[in-house]
Amino acid sequence: MIAMKLTEPGSVFENRLAAERVPVPEPASGEIRIRVSACGVCHTDLHTVEGDLDLPRLPVIPGHQVVGVVDKAGPSSTRFRSGDRVGVAWLYHTCGHCHYCTHSMENLCPDAQFTGLSVDGGYAEYMVVPERFAFPIPDAFSDTGATPLLCAGIVGYRALRLSGIQPGGRLGLYGFGASAHLVIQVARYWDCQVYVFTRGEHHRLLASQLGAVWSGGAEDNPPVRLDASVIFAPVGWIVPLALGHLRPGGVLAINAIHMSDIPEIPYRLIYEERAVKSVANFTRNDATEFLRLASEIPIRCEVEVFPLEEANEVLMKLKKSELRASAALRIPS
Ligand SMILES: [Zn+2]
Ligand SMILES: [Zn+2]
Repeated sequence: MIAMKLTEPGSVFENRLAAERVPVPEPASGEIRIRVSACGVCHTDLHTVEGDLDLPRLPVIPGHQVVGVVDKAGPSSTRFRSGDRVGVAWLYHTCGHCHYCTHSMENLCPDAQFTGLSVDGGYAEYMVVPERFAFPIPDAFSDTGATPLLCAGIVGYRALRLSGIQPGGRLGLYGFGASAHLVIQVARYWDCQVYVFTRGEHHRLLASQLGAVWSGGAEDNPPVRLDASVIFAPVGWIVPLALGHLRPGGVLAINAIHMSDIPEIPYRLIYEERAVKSVANFTRNDATEFLRLASEIPIRCEVEVFPLEEANEVLMKLKKSELRASAALRIPS
């Protein structure tokens, strides 16, 4: 099969991924093999390819927003049938018996493996995955259309939940990329008033089209104190500003796997029981809940589609902020 393989991390402007012919993987016991039809391109893929994240194995095939059909079940795999449409996301494996796995916090399992980082992902014609980490894709979504749900959507949904926002509450969103533009649709479905902090005129317009009551820059003061907020932009200087916009008891969730340093802050910004919480990965429960909700709303996602072999070009566009929507690679069958 053809796969886009990373052998040595470095600048994405040097075409780090090579299209190579590699053997089609065989599903082991408890695993399924997926004939991949689409794989989303996420910011985390940039961090992988450029080596910002520790890379537990090389070479590796990136990609963790994978949609395709089950094409072979391994021995003792019974959950899916051949032809079922499924998705694979970032969480690929957890140990199942540690403190975190047995207390609904499998996202923090120290032995967790991640798709497209610790194991080969979806920038390829086929991949294998433990069947318990594959999710049925609701009919409301096309293959490419479902890809952003699998990372931007699920992790964004976890961030929204961790912010503690209640239906009808006042929610701040900092940064308005792929994840925020899915999260705002959930928040509006819950009747929240949404305040969006973003630089670009285009993003402000999109935010108001999606139901934001106000938009401005992170330095601007919103007209009201916010009950909860989520930061999507991986820049630490926003943290003190966002804390300054929260009401007492408000929660600030940070949806970023990688963030620049947070400047020193005066204690008064967190006094009155304000809290800052980072968001790490997700649980299968988050994924199942979010996919159900996404289909019920239904969430609309705009996706720009490219051929698999253009993965390098798409990563460059992502780095230069030249994509107008989420990007997905299509793999023809
Ligand atoms: Zn565990
Ligand atoms: Zn991702």
